[in-house]
Amino acid sequence: MAEEAELLELMRAAPDDEGPRLVYADWLLARGDARGELIVLDQRERAGQLAGPGALAELERLLVLAAERGFPRLPDDPCAGILPFTGGGSFPVQYDVDHAGHSYYLRWRYGFSIDVDDVTVLDGDLDTLTTNEWTFRETTVILAIVSDAILRGAPLSELAFPSAADFPRHPRYHVGRAPAYCFPEALSAIAPGSAGWTLEVRDFGRWHALWDRWQALRGLARPALTRRGCACGIEGLSCGVSECDGR
Ligand SMILES: [Zn+2]
Repeated sequence: MAEEAELLELMRAAPDDEGPRLVYADWLLARGDARGELIVLDQRERAGQLAGPGALAELERLLVLAAERGFPRLPDDPCAGILPFTGGGSFPVQYDVDHAGHSYYLRWRYGFSIDVDDVTVLDGDLDTLTTNEWTFRETTVILAIVSDAILRGAPLSELAFPSAADFPRHPRYHVGRAPAYCFPEALSAIAPGSAGWTLEVRDFGRWHALWDRWQALRGLARPALTRRGCACGIEGLSCGVSECDGR
Protein backbone atom coordinates (compact mmCIF):
# COMPACT_ATOMS: atom_id res chain seq x y z
CA MET A 1 0.00 0.00 0.00
CA ALA A 2 2.98 2.30 -0.50
CA GLU A 3 1.06 4.15 -3.19
CA GLU A 4 -1.84 4.97 -0.90
CA ALA A 5 0.55 6.23 1.77
CA GLU A 6 2.15 8.52 -0.81
CA LEU A 7 -1.22 9.87 -1.90
CA LEU A 8 -2.15 10.62 1.72
CA GLU A 9 1.19 12.35 2.19
CA LEU A 10 0.47 14.60 -0.83
CA MET A 11 -2.82 15.63 0.79
CA ARG A 12 -1.09 16.42 4.09
CA ALA A 13 1.45 18.56 2.23
CA ALA A 14 -1.30 20.65 0.59
CA PRO A 15 -4.37 20.44 2.84
CA ASP A 16 -6.24 23.24 1.06
CA ASP A 17 -5.56 21.94 -2.43
CA GLU A 18 -8.32 19.81 -3.91
CA GLY A 19 -5.98 18.29 -6.52
CA PRO A 20 -4.37 15.57 -4.39
CA ARG A 21 -7.79 14.71 -2.97
CA LEU A 22 -9.17 14.06 -6.45
CA VAL A 23 -6.09 12.04 -7.42
CA TYR A 24 -6.75 9.87 -4.38
CA ALA A 25 -10.42 9.59 -5.38
CA ASP A 26 -9.37 8.42 -8.85
CA TRP A 27 -7.04 5.87 -7.25
CA LEU A 28 -9.94 4.53 -5.16
CA LEU A 29 -12.31 4.48 -8.14
CA ALA A 30 -9.79 2.50 -10.19
CA ARG A 31 -9.97 -0.13 -7.46
CA GLY A 32 -13.76 -0.20 -7.39
CA ASP A 33 -13.85 1.54 -4.00
CA ALA A 34 -17.06 3.64 -3.69
CA ARG A 35 -15.28 6.06 -1.37
CA GLY A 36 -13.75 7.53 -4.53
CA GLU A 37 -17.20 8.38 -5.88
CA LEU A 38 -18.18 9.81 -2.50
CA ILE A 39 -15.12 12.10 -2.40
CA VAL A 40 -15.80 13.38 -5.94
CA LEU A 41 -19.51 14.01 -5.36
CA ASP A 42 -18.85 15.63 -1.98
CA GLN A 43 -16.27 17.95 -3.46
CA ARG A 44 -18.44 18.86 -6.43
CA GLU A 45 -21.38 19.63 -4.17
CA ARG A 46 -19.25 21.89 -2.01
CA ALA A 47 -18.07 23.69 -5.14
CA GLY A 48 -21.67 24.24 -6.28
CA GLN A 49 -21.20 21.93 -9.25
CA LEU A 50 -24.10 19.57 -8.59
CA ALA A 51 -26.49 21.38 -10.90
CA GLY A 52 -28.46 20.81 -14.05
CA PRO A 53 -30.59 17.85 -15.12
CA GLY A 54 -28.46 15.22 -13.37
CA ALA A 55 -28.26 17.05 -10.04
CA LEU A 56 -31.12 15.21 -8.34
CA ALA A 57 -29.72 11.76 -9.13
CA GLU A 58 -26.20 12.81 -8.10
CA LEU A 59 -27.45 14.30 -4.87
CA GLU A 60 -29.35 11.09 -4.10
CA ARG A 61 -26.22 9.07 -4.73
CA LEU A 62 -24.23 11.38 -2.43
CA LEU A 63 -26.88 11.09 0.30
CA VAL A 64 -26.86 7.31 0.11
CA LEU A 65 -23.05 6.97 0.06
CA ALA A 66 -22.65 9.42 2.95
CA ALA A 67 -25.36 7.67 4.96
CA GLU A 68 -23.67 4.31 4.42
CA ARG A 69 -20.14 5.34 5.33
CA GLY A 70 -20.02 8.96 6.54
CA PHE A 71 -18.43 11.95 4.85
CA PRO A 72 -14.73 11.56 4.07
CA ARG A 73 -12.20 13.20 6.40
CA LEU A 74 -8.99 13.40 4.43
CA PRO A 75 -6.19 12.74 4.72
CA ASP A 76 -6.55 11.78 8.39
CA ASP A 77 -9.81 11.12 10.18
CA PRO A 78 -9.47 12.32 13.80
CA CYS A 79 -12.00 9.63 14.77
CA ALA A 80 -10.26 6.81 12.86
CA GLY A 81 -9.50 5.01 16.11
CA ILE A 82 -13.12 4.98 17.28
CA LEU A 83 -14.98 1.76 16.53
CA PRO A 84 -18.42 2.01 14.88
CA PHE A 85 -20.55 1.62 17.99
CA THR A 86 -24.32 1.45 17.71
CA GLY A 87 -26.82 2.18 20.45
CA GLY A 88 -26.98 5.45 22.31
CA GLY A 89 -29.65 7.00 24.47
CA SER A 90 -29.19 9.68 27.09
CA PHE A 91 -30.25 7.55 30.08
CA PRO A 92 -29.52 4.75 30.33
CA VAL A 93 -26.63 5.08 27.93
CA GLN A 94 -25.89 1.88 26.04
CA TYR A 95 -23.44 1.32 23.22
CA ASP A 96 -22.30 -1.86 21.59
CA VAL A 97 -19.93 -2.98 18.88
CA ASP A 98 -18.68 -6.25 17.46
CA HIS A 99 -14.98 -6.36 16.80
CA ALA A 100 -12.59 -9.20 15.95
CA GLY A 101 -15.04 -11.89 16.93
CA HIS A 102 -16.11 -10.32 20.23
CA SER A 103 -19.16 -8.34 21.31
CA TYR A 104 -18.61 -5.32 23.51
CA TYR A 105 -21.39 -3.64 25.46
CA LEU A 106 -21.07 -0.40 27.43
CA ARG A 107 -23.78 0.60 29.83
CA TRP A 108 -24.32 3.55 32.09
CA ARG A 109 -27.33 3.49 34.36
CA TYR A 110 -26.59 3.76 38.06
CA GLY A 111 -23.05 2.61 37.43
CA PHE A 112 -20.78 2.12 34.49
CA SER A 113 -20.17 -1.36 33.14
CA ILE A 114 -18.54 -3.04 30.18
CA ASP A 115 -19.47 -6.54 29.04
CA VAL A 116 -17.41 -8.64 26.67
CA ASP A 117 -19.34 -11.53 25.13
CA ASP A 118 -22.01 -11.15 27.84
CA VAL A 119 -19.48 -11.32 30.70
CA THR A 120 -19.11 -8.17 32.81
CA VAL A 121 -15.43 -7.21 32.92
CA LEU A 122 -15.78 -3.73 34.40
CA ASP A 123 -18.41 -2.67 36.88
CA GLY A 124 -18.16 0.53 38.84
CA ASP A 125 -18.56 4.25 38.87
CA LEU A 126 -17.75 6.70 36.17
CA ASP A 127 -17.99 9.56 38.59
CA THR A 128 -15.80 11.83 36.55
CA LEU A 129 -18.83 13.27 34.77
CA THR A 130 -21.08 15.81 36.42
CA THR A 131 -24.29 14.11 35.32
CA ASN A 132 -25.22 10.52 34.65
CA GLU A 133 -25.90 11.41 31.04
CA TRP A 134 -23.33 11.91 28.33
CA THR A 135 -23.06 14.84 25.99
CA PHE A 136 -21.97 14.16 22.41
CA ARG A 137 -18.50 15.41 23.27
CA GLU A 138 -18.15 13.27 26.38
CA THR A 139 -19.44 10.30 24.40
CA THR A 140 -16.66 10.75 21.83
CA VAL A 141 -14.03 10.70 24.59
CA ILE A 142 -15.48 7.61 26.26
CA LEU A 143 -15.89 5.67 23.01
CA ALA A 144 -12.36 6.68 21.97
CA ILE A 145 -10.86 5.44 25.25
CA VAL A 146 -12.74 2.14 25.09
CA SER A 147 -11.95 1.68 21.39
CA ASP A 148 -8.27 2.31 21.99
CA ALA A 149 -8.18 -0.38 24.70
CA ILE A 150 -10.06 -2.86 22.50
CA LEU A 151 -7.76 -2.24 19.53
CA ARG A 152 -4.63 -2.56 21.68
CA GLY A 153 -5.92 -5.64 23.44
CA ALA A 154 -5.54 -3.87 26.79
CA PRO A 155 -7.61 -5.22 29.70
CA LEU A 156 -10.90 -3.32 29.87
CA SER A 157 -11.14 -4.08 33.58
CA GLU A 158 -8.33 -1.57 34.17
CA LEU A 159 -9.71 1.25 32.06
CA ALA A 160 -9.25 4.72 33.46
CA PHE A 161 -11.18 7.81 32.43
CA PRO A 162 -10.19 11.47 32.81
CA SER A 163 -11.38 13.48 35.78
CA ALA A 164 -14.28 15.85 35.20
CA ALA A 165 -11.83 18.74 34.92
CA ASP A 166 -9.69 16.90 32.39
CA PHE A 167 -12.53 15.72 30.15
CA PRO A 168 -12.68 18.92 28.08
CA ARG A 169 -8.90 18.73 27.61
CA HIS A 170 -9.00 15.26 26.05
CA PRO A 171 -8.03 15.39 22.33
CA ARG A 172 -11.25 13.61 21.38
CA TYR A 173 -13.50 16.09 23.21
CA HIS A 174 -15.51 17.08 20.15
CA VAL A 175 -18.57 15.94 18.26
CA GLY A 176 -17.39 12.75 16.66
CA ARG A 177 -18.22 9.20 15.74
CA ALA A 178 -21.26 8.34 17.82
CA PRO A 179 -24.43 6.99 16.24
CA ALA A 180 -27.46 9.17 15.48
CA TYR A 181 -30.77 7.73 14.33
CA CYS A 182 -32.37 10.51 12.47
CA PHE A 183 -32.90 9.73 8.83
CA PRO A 184 -36.06 11.17 7.30
CA GLU A 185 -38.61 8.48 6.55
CA ALA A 186 -38.63 9.46 2.89
CA LEU A 187 -35.05 8.19 2.57
CA SER A 188 -36.43 4.68 2.19
CA ALA A 189 -37.89 5.78 -1.15
CA ILE A 190 -34.41 6.33 -2.62
CA ALA A 191 -32.59 3.74 -0.50
CA PRO A 192 -34.75 0.71 0.34
CA GLY A 193 -32.02 -0.78 2.53
CA SER A 194 -31.73 2.26 4.77
CA ALA A 195 -33.88 1.01 7.65
CA GLY A 196 -30.96 -0.10 9.80
CA TRP A 197 -28.60 2.72 8.93
CA THR A 198 -27.14 5.12 11.42
CA LEU A 199 -25.57 8.49 10.81
CA GLU A 200 -22.50 9.59 12.68
CA VAL A 201 -23.40 12.48 14.96
CA ARG A 202 -20.66 14.60 13.43
CA ASP A 203 -22.27 14.19 9.99
CA PHE A 204 -25.76 15.20 11.10
CA GLY A 205 -25.63 18.84 10.03
CA ARG A 206 -24.11 18.35 6.60
CA TRP A 207 -26.21 15.32 5.74
CA HIS A 208 -29.44 17.06 6.66
CA ALA A 209 -28.45 20.21 4.79
CA LEU A 210 -28.05 18.04 1.68
CA TRP A 211 -31.37 16.37 2.41
CA ASP A 212 -33.03 19.79 2.56
CA ARG A 213 -31.48 20.57 -0.80
CA TRP A 214 -32.84 17.33 -2.22
CA GLN A 215 -36.30 18.29 -0.93
CA ALA A 216 -35.98 21.71 -2.55
CA LEU A 217 -34.91 20.21 -5.89
CA ARG A 218 -38.03 18.09 -5.83
CA GLY A 219 -40.14 21.17 -5.11
CA LEU A 220 -40.89 20.18 -1.51
CA ALA A 221 -40.86 22.71 1.29
CA ARG A 222 -38.02 22.72 3.74
CA PRO A 223 -39.43 21.25 6.94
CA ALA A 224 -39.29 23.55 9.93
CA LEU A 225 -36.56 22.64 12.37
CA THR A 226 -38.42 21.31 15.37
CA ARG A 227 -35.49 20.67 17.65
CA ARG A 228 -32.88 23.13 18.69
CA GLY A 229 -29.28 22.24 19.24
CA CYS A 230 -27.34 22.18 22.50
CA ALA A 231 -23.93 23.41 23.55
CA CYS A 232 -22.36 20.48 21.66
CA GLY A 233 -22.93 22.63 18.59
CA ILE A 234 -25.06 20.71 16.08
CA GLU A 235 -27.94 22.65 14.60
CA GLY A 236 -31.21 20.81 15.08
CA LEU A 237 -29.81 18.03 17.24
CA SER A 238 -29.46 17.96 21.02
CA CYS A 239 -27.51 15.45 23.09
CA GLY A 240 -30.40 15.53 25.55
CA VAL A 241 -28.35 16.39 28.61
CA SER A 242 -30.23 19.11 30.45
CA GLU A 243 -27.11 21.02 31.47
CA CYS A 244 -26.03 21.09 27.82
CA ASP A 245 -29.48 22.08 26.54
CA GLY A 246 -29.77 25.02 28.85
CA ARG A 247 -26.53 26.67 27.87
ZN1 LIG B 1 -24.95 18.68 24.06
